[in-house]
Amino acid sequence: MFAQSDGKKFGLMPISVKDTPGPSSIDFLSEQGAILASSKFVVRATRFPSENVRLSPDIEALHSTPEEIKLLTDFRSGVSEERFWQDPLAPPVEGCVTSPFGMKRLHNGKPTGEFHGGVDQRTPAGEPIRAIADGKIIYAQKFNVLGNAVGIDHGQGLGSMYLHMSELKVTPGALVKKGDVLGYAGSTGRSTGPHLHWVLYANGVNVNAAQWVKLTSCPRPSSKKK
Ligand SMILES: [Zn+2]
Repeated sequence: MFAQSDGKKFGLMPISVKDTPGPSSIDFLSEQGAILASSKFVVRATRFPSENVRLSPDIEALHSTPEEIKLLTDFRSGVSEERFWQDPLAPPVEGCVTSPFGMKRLHNGKPTGEFHGGVDQRTPAGEPIRAIADGKIIYAQKFNVLGNAVGIDHGQGLGSMYLHMSELKVTPGALVKKGDVLGYAGSTGRSTGPHLHWVLYANGVNVNAAQWVKLTSCPRPSSKKK
């Protein structure tokens, strides 16, 4: 936990999609490891629907390199002391949500064992993608699976990542403000068409961005009458 400017202490405690529902508890430790306080809470069950994604063989063949995996793992596990972000966060684009957080993912009908770790927003190619909060750019580069991607450290455990861009406008180490343009929407990497997939991390755990910013679902295609 981190001391805040108002004298209070603050920290993020994420619940993962993969956590088991039921009673749980959290201990607050001193720096020496002594339990200062404990608190009970209940992880409520959520049902996530399944979604099949059709991928062409050349797209399905894309895989992350060990260097890419290390960079992304280091990003998720890093927690910096300085807090850049403030509530409320801003959505990175205006488009409606085509695929929400937590959907169980199938690729070409085969279960992947993975869930959708971010949200997809309908975003035409070339539309600017903006930082959801102040922060520091950790990476801005091309990845095999993620395409052109940007990762931001917002400080004190909050991070965000933006994928599949056609063009990047920021460089690692740069400080950005909420609303700054990071790049432009595209369909690079493992993507079937222009959209924005973005991810919110709380202490390295993928959390549902829709619980932080107001997002609207795209209308479902109405079933045709016979
Ligand atoms: Zn996605």
